[in-house]
Amino acid sequence: MQLDQQGPILVWLRNDLRLADNPALIAAAATGRSVIPLHILDETPGVRPMGGASLWWLDKSLAALDVSLKAIGSRLILRRGPARAVLEDITAQAKPAAVVWNRLYDAASIERDSAIKAWLKDEAIACESFNAGLLNEPWTVKNGSGQPYKVFTPYWRAARDQLHHVHVEPPPKALVAPERWPRTESLESWNLHPAKPNWSKGFDLWTPGELGARERLDDFLSGPVEDYDRQRDLPGVEGASRLSPHLHFGEIGPRQVWVAARKAAEAGDAPAGQVEKFLSEIGWREFNHSILFHNPDLPKVNFRPEFDGFPWMRDDAAFEAWSRGETGYPIVDAGMRELWATGFMHNRVRMIVASFLVKHLLIDWRAGETWFWDTLVDADLANNVGNWQWVAGSGADAAPYFRIFNPIAQGQRFDPVGAYVRRWVPDLANLPDALIHEPWKASAQLNAAAKRIYGEPIVGHSAARERALEAYRGLRENGLSRTAG
Ligand code: FAD
Repeated sequence: MQLDQQGPILVWLRNDLRLADNPALIAAAATGRSVIPLHILDETPGVRPMGGASLWWLDKSLAALDVSLKAIGSRLILRRGPARAVLEDITAQAKPAAVVWNRLYDAASIERDSAIKAWLKDEAIACESFNAGLLNEPWTVKNGSGQPYKVFTPYWRAARDQLHHVHVEPPPKALVAPERWPRTESLESWNLHPAKPNWSKGFDLWTPGELGARERLDDFLSGPVEDYDRQRDLPGVEGASRLSPHLHFGEIGPRQVWVAARKAAEAGDAPAGQVEKFLSEIGWREFNHSILFHNPDLPKVNFRPEFDGFPWMRDDAAFEAWSRGETGYPIVDAGMRELWATGFMHNRVRMIVASFLVKHLLIDWRAGETWFWDTLVDADLANNVGNWQWVAGSGADAAPYFRIFNPIAQGQRFDPVGAYVRRWVPDLANLPDALIHEPWKASAQLNAAAKRIYGEPIVGHSAARERALEAYRGLRENGLSRTAG
């Protein structure tokens, strides 16, 4: 880093809440100057505020980061407000020689960061940004004609080919403290932990922070990875890594995951094919970030414009039943209740509940995306929007709209003995396996609470399927006549 002035290095930490493999922090430490680690609870207009579950996570993750920083002679400065105003205030106090950060890839962050970079340049303060969040940044993977890929398989083949020397930097051993710390706010004063009501009691399965992230990865690589390809689809089994919130907040980076997983395969501690499959899921994360970067309107706009005329329905009662887990379909309801209770939902079940909303209920994918944004601890713009559009059929390399999940058959296939449903919809716990996904066939065996919920599903599967296909056919016919006209 080229430094023309005296002064400390300000490290603006965002979705990179870790010490290891954090290039901005490591570059700051390498200057030998004093370092000021800063997190801003950003209120820049246009930057999407975090949802409630994410704020719960952020609270714990920042606390953990502060502990790690203190162990190497530093601390975390916390400020709330529009990022530019906060940085103006801190640079006026601390007179840094440079401000550094790791890059983000959504349009609002890019616009904010570019404006801040230009302002720092005017102020003659050095500014440098780094890659902590992706294996390949979006502009580095292009097809033969220099265009970004729109289909996952060739994207990942090309992206993977570029990953020969993935390198992970160890955390800095020590950070020099500045003579005077700038003003900080207390984490408690931000009130990120919910009170009255405290809906986060079921969130204690999580350990936000760098240590918790590393533990999750190690646990996964020393067990579930063995049979990942099969077990990852079974919501009643702990078959996947549950790393997504840790990756979203950058408590662990994809390079670290890559290196650890490959090392396990090379040492014979994990089957190479299973590791490859797992890394291809990290590939989907990369792909979604690339698609969002190249299509900045994606959070609001269909990737495939032919979906713009889709006849979405407004049905508040149905949306409420969906969001509360009271649709009458056990696998859907179990998923929505898991989400509410823990801030997480199994991937297979996310696909089922999302399909149910956009196809059985014909509700716009954006309504579901918004609900997930508020309730998921791993809510991530690129992944959430990318996956919702994938399920809706409007996205890049999406599932075809006419592939409509049958929630009964999906339940029977992926939760065959009802372990997942019994856990999240305990009213159904006593039903025999054969009826657990069709409780309306077992009226006599249901208790009163289950009867109230499961008297009738809110829509019949066959009728809803026909209605969805009809809406889709209309869309195509309109689309064709529009093109013809
Ligand atoms: P693993 O199977 O262990 O996979 C490892 C990592 O790969 C994950 O941690 C995640 O970072 C990445 N990954 C896995 N599947 C996907 C995928 N389909 N797309 C992108 N990355 C993936 N994931 C989020 O991180 N944030 C979201 O907001 C989000 N919203 C979703 C919404 C819908 C409708 C659907 C269908 C999926 C969504 N996903 C989202 C993707 C996926 O469900 C989660 O990443 C996954 O369930 C996390 O569990 P895991 O860490 O055990 O995954």
